[in-house]
Amino acid sequence: MEKPQLIVNGLRLDGRKPDELRPIKIETDIIKNASGSAYMEWGNNKVIAAVYGPKEALPKHTGDPEKAIIKCVYSMTPFSSLEEHGRSGPNRRAIEISKVTKEVFENIILVENFPRSEIDIFIEILQADGGTRAAGITAAAVALATSGIPMRDIPYAVSAGRVGDTVIIDLNKLEDNYSDADMPVAIAPRNNEILLMQMDGGLTREQFKKALEMIKNAGKVITKIQREAIKKPYEDLINKYGAKYE
Ligand code: ADP
Repeated sequence: MEKPQLIVNGLRLDGRKPDELRPIKIETDIIKNASGSAYMEWGNNKVIAAVYGPKEALPKHTGDPEKAIIKCVYSMTPFSSLEEHGRSGPNRRAIEISKVTKEVFENIILVENFPRSEIDIFIEILQADGGTRAAGITAAAVALATSGIPMRDIPYAVSAGRVGDTVIIDLNKLEDNYSDADMPVAIAPRNNEILLMQMDGGLTREQFKKALEMIKNAGKVITKIQREAIKKPYEDLINKYGAKYE
């Protein structure tokens, strides 16, 4: 396919402004056997995150006497995208995304609280439309929060990118394929600590500053949606039982 013009009259092909996020919806507790879980729709992405643990690290020799180990599996269902997936099982890309996601959560979970344990994070992409690693991290953060596993913060992730001279937020698949830069970032909002930063393409120093500013602004919206999703089951109970629910 020839490179499409991604911005026409200041708007993107899906009608968004450069700094506009796709709609995000999150629901919690959708996998009954999991310690915590979340279902997320982010634009046309559909993602399930489920967390198990902390539990005894197995095989035992993998356990760390000082802290919990985090295992993460990111995977795309074979029907998640129009493109050919090749053979099933993890490919190089899925292994990379699993690794960087694991590193995000190793740095935010209070792993020292759970020696010799493991915490398993599963991210399943049901439908993919660009930005699935960001969606996976954002959904997994909610799944972890609902599981009660203690974290220093509830991280979010989103990517920023560039089309020509215009910096844009939250690239969809078409933009991901044809933009001049794509930079997924995960952040702990409390102190804006950067937990993940990857980059495809290039940004000038000014564009980078602008991208980071857009990411932090988007983060305020994403964080609010995450927190509302985490609170919702409790609010539903309060609404149902009123003062009887303490
Ligand atoms: P991200 O989803 O985090 O943006 P990539 O930049 O690697 O990750 O991929 C961009 C998009 O390309 C994905 O969201 C997905 O829509 C599509 N994609 C990537 N890999 C595959 C694949 N193996 N099969 C089908 N679609 C894919």
